Amino acid sequence: MNNRELEINTKRLSELKELLAKYDQQYYIQDDPTVDDAVYDGLKAELKNIEAKYPELITADSPSQRVVGEVSEGFKSVVHRTRMLSLNDVFDISEIDAWINRIRKLAPSANEINYFADVKKDGLACALVYEDGALQQAITRGDGYTGEDVTANVKTIRSVPLSLSKSDGNKSLINGRLEVRGEIVMYRKDFEELNKERASSGLSLYANPRNTAAGTIRQLDSGLVAKRKLHFLAYDIIQEGKSTIVSHSELYKLIADMGFKGYEHASSLHDVKSIHKYISEWENKRDSLPYNIDGLVIKVDNRKLYSDLGIVGKTPRGAIAYKFPAEQATTTVKDIFISIGRTGSATPVAILAPVVVDGSTVQMATLHNESEIHRKDIRVGDTVVIRKAGDIIPEVIEPLTDLRPKNSTIFKMPTECPDCGTKLIKIKQDDAAWRCPNTKCPARNQRHIEHFASKTALDIEGLGEKNVEVLRQNRLISDQADIYKLQKEDLLELDRFAEVSANKLIAAIADKKQPELPRFLFGLGIRHVGIQTAIDLANNFNSLEKLSKADYEQLAGIDGVGEVVAESIVAWFSDPQNVKLLEKFKKYGVWPKKQIKKEGALSGKRFVVTGSLEQMSRTLAADRIRDKGGIFQSSLGKDTDYLVVGQKVGASKLKKAEEYGTKRLSESEFMKLIS
Ligand code: NAD
Repeated sequence: MNNRELEINTKRLSELKELLAKYDQQYYIQDDPTVDDAVYDGLKAELKNIEAKYPELITADSPSQRVVGEVSEGFKSVVHRTRMLSLNDVFDISEIDAWINRIRKLAPSANEINYFADVKKDGLACALVYEDGALQQAITRGDGYTGEDVTANVKTIRSVPLSLSKSDGNKSLINGRLEVRGEIVMYRKDFEELNKERASSGLSLYANPRNTAAGTIRQLDSGLVAKRKLHFLAYDIIQEGKSTIVSHSELYKLIADMGFKGYEHASSLHDVKSIHKYISEWENKRDSLPYNIDGLVIKVDNRKLYSDLGIVGKTPRGAIAYKFPAEQATTTVKDIFISIGRTGSATPVAILAPVVVDGSTVQMATLHNESEIHRKDIRVGDTVVIRKAGDIIPEVIEPLTDLRPKNSTIFKMPTECPDCGTKLIKIKQDDAAWRCPNTKCPARNQRHIEHFASKTALDIEGLGEKNVEVLRQNRLISDQADIYKLQKEDLLELDRFAEVSANKLIAAIADKKQPELPRFLFGLGIRHVGIQTAIDLANNFNSLEKLSKADYEQLAGIDGVGEVVAESIVAWFSDPQNVKLLEKFKKYGVWPKKQIKKEGALSGKRFVVTGSLEQMSRTLAADRIRDKGGIFQSSLGKDTDYLVVGQKVGASKLKKAEEYGTKRLSESEFMKLIS
């Protein structure tokens, strides 16, 4: 390692340690975290990476080396007879496979290694000490060596047996001193209820069930603890002297026999495949549990092997915690560039150090606009928290200013378009939104062609962003109409195409020479004409010729088309550049079909689709309705016959349908009707 590298990593490590120590204090001591667990985990993973690369930089106070926690005032401190450990956590299935390989290497003589898995309950760890089956003491994990005596509080938890039930299987186990370890959790519904009560009393809300449970256990008034309905879920037994329990599977049976909860979802797993299956099953059904789990714990089943594998730092080698993919992560902003959209909108986009969020790698995030960047104060070089939920484009939530480099500079919006150099103009004075006004801007041109070929518009398969870019750069196309003059030979000249792919693309293009009118209109990229407006326009004018001659009054009078849209349509059709484009389409034999009112099973019936459909897009639903003679409307009116109800539907639409007496159709009823 050279000196410069050492300097950078030492500095980063000390900043990370300082920040993580602050978060530890808030989370473990004050039970009041200020950042999401994924943010903490992201920074800790970065710290562990640096430590793995430069082990000489590891210090005893590193969060990778010690369990955090301290004894609060008001509680007696108790030394654990057997240290309470933490777990090493991983965030990717491949890391589980690597762990299994490591275990195999460490135990070459073990012929068959079985595993045991359980859900990782997200609460606070607690050890219950029993003497001859009677509960004597309850101790928090604390720093792993010393915890707090919280016996009075834990005794109020109904799922903690005050005396252990004796069955034939556990008789000898119960004699003498026995420790049962587990997690104290608060059920989600109780947490939500508690927060509802706090909200109605004007009190601040609690962050999550885990920290609320931890805070509750540290209350000095046991009466209050009793009211909070906590649960104890056991996962381990520590015997005094030599352990007689052979496996974790046996241990969980004993837990159940003694009257504890917490064994219900554990499973013996015999190979990698079954471990993968267990993980994917729980990823899907984690919400079915009444309490939160933040992952899964996988252990070597055999207890002797488990203990022989030993401990590294604060974690046992024989167990691993698989954490569920989080919607948030931390990363650094490498650069901010300006992306020019189809309509010229200039959007700042952050280039990020690649990071996995919600199961996929993210390298870019939208920053929306200049004022948003300034409001959040996001700078190049910043460590930031990003979020990606479902299919939504990732966004930067906030910078972690504690980790900000000293020389960082405030973002300044460029005054010129980065693609064509034209002076950017402001869209709205107060919104800090900028636009490239040059209609010939190469970036705008690229987006226009991509848009025309996209799924909702012409849906030309194989003509995505990259191919459009290559075709433009090779001067084979310069606008949407040029797509239709492409020949197979042109494509074969390019590295990206071979015989089969070239044939496929040419066929896909030829297939879209007489597109549906709404798709074509939408594909032209007229400002403010989204797919719904395109459908409304097609319903009213039936042909492109008629629409192109419509005046402002005619257009503005249409339901769903306001003044701004009408103005934009008139302007588009009177722009000579666009007139030329339409002529070009005609020359290549491309023209949208007339919207002829088809006769069919749905003739004269009016439909509105609300919410998203699982089996088809709205555009396709509209095509299918029209094919059968029906009319696709953009908004619910008294004349609407059917309201097709998809996913995530607002209550107001349904109420309106009820008022008008509109018949509701589920997606499957609708599918039947159009099939
Ligand atoms: P951990 O709680 O993630 O994992 C170890 C613990 O898992 C064990 O001690 C045990 O109590 C528990 N556990 C639950 N189910 C189990 C089972 N079936 N078998 C065995 N053990 C089981 O480790 P940790 O070091 O205590 O805490 C790290 C966690 O705390 C991380 O998830 C981190 O995100 C979070 N944290 C968040 C912040 C923040 O500011 N948001 C700060 C610090 C820590």
